[in-house]
Amino acid sequence: MKTANKTVTATMLVKDALQKAKHFAEYNIFTFLNEEGALKKAAEIDARIARGEEVGKLAGVPYALKDNFLSPEGQTTASAHILEGYVSPVTATVVEKLESEGAIMIGRTNLDAFAHGSSTENSYFGPTHNAHDFERVAGGSSGGSAVAVALDIVEFATGTDTGGSIRQPASFNGVYGLKPTYGANSRYGVVAMASSLDCIGFSTKTPDDMDLLMSITAGQDPKDMTTLPDFYNIAAPPTRTVTRIGVIKDFDNDAVDAEIREALSRKCELLKSKGYEIVELDMPALKYALAAYYIIQPAEVASNLSRYDGVRYGFRSERAQDLEGLYNNTRGEGFMPENKRRIMIGNFVLSSGFYDAYFLKAAKARTLIVQEYAEAFQKCDFILTPVSPNPAFKLGEKVNDPVAMYLEDLMSVSLNLAGVPGLAVPAGKTRDGRSLGLQLVGPRRSDKSLIEFAKELQDENDL
Ligand code: GLN
Repeated sequence: MKTANKTVTATMLVKDALQKAKHFAEYNIFTFLNEEGALKKAAEIDARIARGEEVGKLAGVPYALKDNFLSPEGQTTASAHILEGYVSPVTATVVEKLESEGAIMIGRTNLDAFAHGSSTENSYFGPTHNAHDFERVAGGSSGGSAVAVALDIVEFATGTDTGGSIRQPASFNGVYGLKPTYGANSRYGVVAMASSLDCIGFSTKTPDDMDLLMSITAGQDPKDMTTLPDFYNIAAPPTRTVTRIGVIKDFDNDAVDAEIREALSRKCELLKSKGYEIVELDMPALKYALAAYYIIQPAEVASNLSRYDGVRYGFRSERAQDLEGLYNNTRGEGFMPENKRRIMIGNFVLSSGFYDAYFLKAAKARTLIVQEYAEAFQKCDFILTPVSPNPAFKLGEKVNDPVAMYLEDLMSVSLNLAGVPGLAVPAGKTRDGRSLGLQLVGPRRSDKSLIEFAKELQDENDL
């Protein structure tokens, strides 16, 4: 990562990033450009460097912030109308940690409203375009973040991954995307989607950058009781000796695009030639992952989104005559259709007549999936799978078909249900030039080893 020094100043780095952001304006990557704030911070950092002070590991490094991270710089909208005008009084822990090392936020990136989606088309501000094919989707929900990195506007961008939102856009745009172990990074100050699944991670250009960022942000946070004691930075690197790579038999079928299957077998051959053993895994419970996810996740969404009432945050409907009307009109006008769909499904699966049939069953399926991953990691060290069934699709192709959009998440959501880490790595291109990605999956707390493994394969990752 290029940090600032006396010759290449933070101001130069920030100006360059802002200029690139403007150059790519038609991609609709940013919901807010932090020109004034970023230049002010850059000047402060330059002054500190001039005084010979130690600034930090990310001195003057421009980065992009997914617009569901709270900070007082700009509005935090989560790309939803209902949060328009909301300026947060708090700063997310991850933002605090990055900035205490000298990183500078140059803009907030577009996402599917409240991170509900797989293409960034559910954004109130319109879709973000794919970095390598303007007619295609960026992936989602962290589409803006992945494209900002892929187009080399910033060195890294933050993301949230509840069911693939960092990994899938990373693979659609040819960058690295990490969904860490649940609880590795603090969720404090991040707009909640589904709290038992939400993970905070990054899009980067290299595994080394990912390593650096995780070493800065991972660790226990008193403001988020689900954070884990610092397993990432322990002195002796917890590197596992990786010898066996699992591939999931159940994912090798017609539902997966032929070019993705080819990329997977290419990678397996490469690994074999390097002496790794490829282990075939039977993971029958994974077929329930998508259904379980689309019950558990909306249930938690329905609860988390109940706080947006037109009183406490952002937008308030003008049409409200009384309190009931204030709630109804604000929520009716402020949420996107996909947000409303999830609120309705969530309340349905939690309702007294249906709780046992839906939510409880999904919770049981989740336990099976957790157990299945634990058993799989007895047989192999890491698992290699596709990130999504297909590479980037056309804008407009799936946006009116929620089930087709949900199927995008077939291979990503089981990791969130099980709490295990997954790293999307670039895996070459399709014949028509679209980015391909694969994901490396490890047991809980193996994030560091997963990244080390990707570093080892770095030169061949993009084959
Ligand atoms: N595509 C998934 C969904 O729509 C994942 C979203 C996410 O990870 N935030 O729920």
